[in-house]
Amino acid sequence: MKAKGGPVLPGDKLAVSEEFLPGKHTYEESGLIRSLAVGSVQKDGDKMEISVEPAMVRESIKVDDWVTGQVENAQANSANVKLYYVNGKPTYKDFSGMLNLRGLSGGGRGARRTTPVKSGDIVRCRVFSLLNGIIHLTIEEPDMGVVAALCSNCGTPLLKGNSTRVKCDECGNVEERKLAADFGTAPIQP
Ligand SMILES: [Zn+2]
Repeated sequence: MKAKGGPVLPGDKLAVSEEFLPGKHTYEESGLIRSLAVGSVQKDGDKMEISVEPAMVRESIKVDDWVTGQVENAQANSANVKLYYVNGKPTYKDFSGMLNLRGLSGGGRGARRTTPVKSGDIVRCRVFSLLNGIIHLTIEEPDMGVVAALCSNCGTPLLKGNSTRVKCDECGNVEERKLAADFGTAPIQP
């Protein structure tokens, strides 16, 4: 007997360990079985095993692809990016990626970048992993990073910058960003 459940996210509680054995893409912690992946729950009643079938929406995105999208929620070590372009072509699927900012947010050698990206920025990213059904993104390469951003002081589009800073022509506000090498060129190359 196999039953299929609803969609789950990494960390979601699936069952208590007394009821089920942890199957694929799950882990056990303090008596609970949790999901390691984005996907749907599979319950095998014969083996008393619960597992997660990773979502298959990733088939058109591969490791080493580049993607362009908008930052939705930026935190210290990661940001959610809603993806609009894959390898320069528009995508109409509901793709979101997780941009890894570790190592860009300071702590390393050289210039300390406290704000590599901000919510609302348009960023070009490299896909470096699809582990656990999540599109993992990086902007460490020179061509990757913010390609368009608005001044967070006055809302004017920012036009000029070097690799770590950008200055607003309108109000003179200087902001930190990890800019793509072609930042400021128009139209934007997705
Ligand atoms: Zn401004």
